[in-house]
Amino acid sequence: MGRLDGKTAIITGAAQGIGALMAKAMATEGAKVLVTDVQSTDRAVKAITDTGGTARGMKVDVTLNDDLAAMVEVATTELGGIDIMVNNASIFATLKPKPFFEIDDDEFDLIMRVNARGVHQVMRAIVPTMIKAGGGKVINIASGTFYYGPPGLSHYTASKGAVIALTRCHARELGDKNIQVNAIAPGLTESEGVIANRGLDMARAPTIASRSIKREMLPEDLLGSLMYLATSDSNFVTGQTLNVDGGKVNV
Ligand code: NAD
Repeated sequence: MGRLDGKTAIITGAAQGIGALMAKAMATEGAKVLVTDVQSTDRAVKAITDTGGTARGMKVDVTLNDDLAAMVEVATTELGGIDIMVNNASIFATLKPKPFFEIDDDEFDLIMRVNARGVHQVMRAIVPTMIKAGGGKVINIASGTFYYGPPGLSHYTASKGAVIALTRCHARELGDKNIQVNAIAPGLTESEGVIANRGLDMARAPTIASRSIKREMLPEDLLGSLMYLATSDSNFVTGQTLNVDGGKVNV
């Protein structure tokens, strides 16, 4: 028996990397998973169905309300509802680190629009369905950058601080609806996007040195926290951000 048998999960930004692995992990635990991204989700869906899991792929831009309405429609009519929402979509692995004074308004707005406002838009779209069903679990993917403010990523760090803030506010507003809203703040994680982004290379060695557990962090290191927050194990936990970084910062 899987820990998510009978549940339906939606995950955004799950064509690759951490999102694709989380989608697979939830399917392995028995959830029917709606795998969404602005990119093709074919590879992520195939990885699930090839191993006997249930998944449906869909092109969804988290900043487009029409896409989000269609996402909710597919989840409710084809997959049976929305029990778990994982807000993972983000502009991250393609970022080129640069000093804040070189970030123009358009770039700043883009990062905030996708990473922060996108979570607001997804939540506004899915919450009526969760309330109608009597509850649900929301897991927002934030970032450990919020805790220490690394150079070169000020716009991204601000957007993930906003995700942590939204997590707290949404948890308060949904506490009496049996919807728990929590976040995970990963440290620098060797996702395929990060491995391909040479601009992040200089952060690797110092990051590992700064951890209590001195090794590279892998996407798999996030799955235990995901499962805790997606199951009834966390039913009295809401508005929290789980810092998963090998003990780099103590929060
Ligand atoms: P990634 O960049 O490979 O994945 C992000 C996904 O989001 C991509 O597939 C991308 O296509 C998608 N996306 C971008 N804009 C979108 C939009 N408008 N609508 C829908 N999807 C969109 O990054 P990753 O390393 O797999 O990270 C996954 C999550 O973890 C992100 O939220 C990231 O910010 C967070 N995170 C990553 C690390 C790390 O070191 N890898 C550390 C902390 C937090």
